[in-house]
Amino acid sequence: MVEAAASRIPSCSYCGEPAVIYQPERRRHLCGTHLVRDVENRVEATIREEDLIRPGDRVAVGLSGGKDSTALLIILSRLLSKIPEAKLIAITIDEGIAGYRSDTIKSAEELTRSLGVEHRIISFYDMVGRDLDTILRGREPQACTVCGILRKKALMDTSRACDATVIATGHNLDDEAQSVLMNALRGDLPRLIRNAGAGRPALFLARVKPLAAVTEKEIAAYLFVQGRFPVLPECPYTRYALRAEVRGLLAGLESRHPGTMARLVESKKKIERYTTGVPVMEPLHRCRECGDPCSGELCQVCRLRCSLDL
Ligand SMILES: [Zn+2]
Ligand SMILES: [Zn+2]
Repeated sequence: MVEAAASRIPSCSYCGEPAVIYQPERRRHLCGTHLVRDVENRVEATIREEDLIRPGDRVAVGLSGGKDSTALLIILSRLLSKIPEAKLIAITIDEGIAGYRSDTIKSAEELTRSLGVEHRIISFYDMVGRDLDTILRGREPQACTVCGILRKKALMDTSRACDATVIATGHNLDDEAQSVLMNALRGDLPRLIRNAGAGRPALFLARVKPLAAVTEKEIAAYLFVQGRFPVLPECPYTRYALRAEVRGLLAGLESRHPGTMARLVESKKKIERYTTGVPVMEPLHRCRECGDPCSGELCQVCRLRCSLDL
């Protein structure tokens, strides 16, 4: 490894330019150019190996305007030219969170305009007649559960309305590792190995995560070197989430034991391989109220509507 003599900035292991990131598992430093190439190559490999996007697909991208979905849209807009007849549509959900959403929506609009990607915005208000702040008053600790259920519904319905054939979200390796640990901590086996025997489900619109092998740090650096780093407020409700604690715990482990997050996600995949074809979830029915696929009598959204009187 070549160290730049004059400064303390390490040099790229490939070209000797100043490095912007160190990848401990691969024991290499990368400059901006090589990092961008590495991230895009790995996302392309994930898409190809896991057959995530096919020729002719209309890909709905959940675009919050934050780092992950911004990077996802940029990368897909570059990669999709290689997939015949594939098309992108960006969907932004306005939950109605005061002091948080307006900036991220503006950032999403600027991005889609600059990339020439069709953009739809859907609000919780349009969907259930109230915004998230109003729904959550006095129920703040449930914020992420309530918001998650409604967001998933909004993304699914809007994607269907756009005739999308697949939904892509910006979940990265950190998110995936956090989810594995959270589901294990909750004892939620069905959710832990939900993807067993995945592929294109019959009742749901398929959801894919092309950034699942890329770390949050790599995504941040990827955007930063291209001058695309969105500086946005953090969602005010995150402090209520178990995820915030799990994130802190995993970040500490990862820095002392590089590769922890990747191995955690790998163990989930191993369990999935061992359990392929084993029924771990209740069989799917149609919701009594709305007809969406679900495991009980009522889907999560309709149960939420009942309990919150929406
Ligand atoms: Zn380089
Ligand atoms: Zn329902």
